[in-house]
Amino acid sequence: MLEDLKEILDIQELDMKMIRLMRVKKERLKELDQIRDLRKELHHQITDKESEIEELGKNIQTLEQKIQDVNARIKKLEGQQSNIKKADEFNALTQEMTQAERERIAIESKVSDLVDKRVAEEEMLAKIKDTLKTSEESSTNLEHDIQSSIELINEEGARFKEERDSLAKSANLEILQIYERLLRNKKDRVVVPIENRTCSGCHIVLTAQHENLVRKGENLVFCEHCSRIHYWQESEVLEGTAVATKRRRRRMASA
Ligand SMILES: [Zn+2]
Repeated sequence: MLEDLKEILDIQELDMKMIRLMRVKKERLKELDQIRDLRKELHHQITDKESEIEELGKNIQTLEQKIQDVNARIKKLEGQQSNIKKADEFNALTQEMTQAERERIAIESKVSDLVDKRVAEEEMLAKIKDTLKTSEESSTNLEHDIQSSIELINEEGARFKEERDSLAKSANLEILQIYERLLRNKKDRVVVPIENRTCSGCHIVLTAQHENLVRKGENLVFCEHCSRIHYWQESEVLEGTAVATKRRRRRMASA
């Protein structure tokens, strides 16, 4: 049984490495998305600004046409006035012309506001275009770096996968399937040692009886709290595995 677990432990180490790689890859992909989202957002802003400016242009044109209409009206009134002899009719036309001039001044002030607004919007548009250009220049390099780091991750992952597949071929199928099911649930180490009579997965204290069963190593023993598979660290069968090496290193460090 312990020999079987030893193989599973090696597989587990590879699985942990692959899970770590997948996490890093996910982070990298997120960074790529952020860069692309920023660029998309800037493109949106540019399109929005451009249509705002176009709209302002149309409004300005309409108002300028109105000014021309008012001017024509005033001119017509002037023409009429020169032919009039009666004072009250003359005065009425004067009043009408004054009103038309007031109207023109109001429209002209509106046009001037719109023109100012358009200048401001055009400045803003130029700034956004600048930002986009700078961000495109810098993010192209960054994007490239991220892409190549993802490629490295993929290569490394493929190597681990190959190694894992070949180990899985000789592993005890039944234990492997149990292990894989547990791993899918926990996405963390599921074959764990007992340390100080405590499950090193969920850190809950175990009974002496449970520890004895694990020490014997005859059957698979599951943690009754977290369902992980337990093994006894000091077992000679495990010498030479990643676990044993880690243990030795720890001992040397504390000596
Ligand atoms: Zn546990």
